[in-house]
Amino acid sequence: MNKASTALRNQPQLITYADRLGGGLDAIQALLSGPLAGLFGGVHLLPFYTPFDGADAGFDPTDHTTVDPRLGSWTDIQRLAKTHDVVADFIVNHVSRESREFSDLARHGAESAYAGMFLTFDAVYPEGATEQDLLSVYRPRPGLPFVPVRWGGQRRLAWSTFTPAQIDVDVRHPQGQAYLDRVLGALTSNGVSLLRLDAVGYAVKTPGTSSFMTPDTLAFIAELTERARDRGVEILVEVHGHYSLQIAVAEQVDWVYDFALPPLILHALFTGDARVLGHWLEIRPANAVTVLDTHDGIGVVDVGPTDFPTAQPGLLSADDIDILVNRIHDNSEQTSRAATGLSASNLDIYQVNCTYYDALGRDDDAYLIARALQLFTPGIPQIYYVGLLAGTNDVDLLTASGVGRDINRGQYTAAEIEAQLRRPVVRDLIRLIRLRAQHRAFAGTCQIRSEDTTIAIEWTNDTERATLTVDFAARTMDLAWTDGSTPRQMTRWPCRDA
Ligand code: BGC
Repeated sequence: MNKASTALRNQPQLITYADRLGGGLDAIQALLSGPLAGLFGGVHLLPFYTPFDGADAGFDPTDHTTVDPRLGSWTDIQRLAKTHDVVADFIVNHVSRESREFSDLARHGAESAYAGMFLTFDAVYPEGATEQDLLSVYRPRPGLPFVPVRWGGQRRLAWSTFTPAQIDVDVRHPQGQAYLDRVLGALTSNGVSLLRLDAVGYAVKTPGTSSFMTPDTLAFIAELTERARDRGVEILVEVHGHYSLQIAVAEQVDWVYDFALPPLILHALFTGDARVLGHWLEIRPANAVTVLDTHDGIGVVDVGPTDFPTAQPGLLSADDIDILVNRIHDNSEQTSRAATGLSASNLDIYQVNCTYYDALGRDDDAYLIARALQLFTPGIPQIYYVGLLAGTNDVDLLTASGVGRDINRGQYTAAEIEAQLRRPVVRDLIRLIRLRAQHRAFAGTCQIRSEDTTIAIEWTNDTERATLTVDFAARTMDLAWTDGSTPRQMTRWPCRDA
């Protein structure tokens, strides 16, 4: 895609739940125009639909077209959209089992007006399925994607990729399409600028295939992209998988996530070896949203080898990944171990659940180096609210809910936010984000040079310049930028009044 054509602001974006950063949408608005003013050009509001607190933290809406009244209304979203690009989830793959549509179907079966909206085993495999057909379906954890449900007077097997509370939509059926159109209409008419296509890799089921990111899925993504563009909205595709997949998808869509960056930065900081990260920076797509942390875990399939659909090496070997994951667990004093894998109701067992700050052993310098790298890497940087506050693992929340990802989904009151914003590491991070948000060099061109243990990233725009050099062996960074008035004079990090 032509990146220059994006309507999005070339500035960092905040990722947050509507209710966990100060309590509500008003608090977020007040933060963005108060202590966080000038830092973020956009905000990804994690699912705020009805209900925002279901079985999958809002990714299981009963009504995807409404704002949960406990959070506010579309007017609040529109208000936010006046000052910031609003990024919202378009949950295309599934709907809550408690939704009006599925409840109607459960009651009336084939007579329901929604009988075609949901996928069953039979709808995908009208001729039946072989053992191999079922084994080849790709899922981020073991087990088959089916759940027994009531279907009028019958019992049927509904397709359920994630939790049994989320039933997959038949996105190819006219009723499924009509549903997606209703949701698209609601999102695009209320100020959303960027739609995050949630879990879209699983959305199209094609018998005899993995039903994950097949040519049919790519065609579906292309159609949705067209429909969104017609309404003036861009698309961000959320897919975890082998890095080659991300590169291929990026060529066809507006934005992809760079999910390889978070583990590769950790790998470089842990080993002092910059070669793999340097290689990735050379080959990665530039139309990427960069993250170090999100509401999900740190992905490892994104850098690992794969056997699917054919064997391909990863950016890191399986052994390197083991070492990386164990180091994260050691750095977090094993708290991430309890939150990861099969032990904690995880929907994706291949993600490590840990705050990024804890993954780096709460080492402020390493954390700021990682963030500087993220902010200098081409693309739109998104900063997750826990990461913004250099948050640590929320073991109490994990213990209370038993949900692995909750370790990195803590609640912050207004008073806690105020206290966190005073910490030196958070203040320094805010300076870095402000530099990325406001320095003119980042509207120019980028040059990246990497050697065995160092990476240098330089942005140049006319006489403006910003440069970052990281020495991974020494775990130090050299960061400097022009200050506009005196082009040759570079201000150097750390600079308390930057
Ligand atoms: C979201 C997860 C969610 C899943 C199912 C993912 O891609 O990021 O948080 O559990 O989709 O909706």
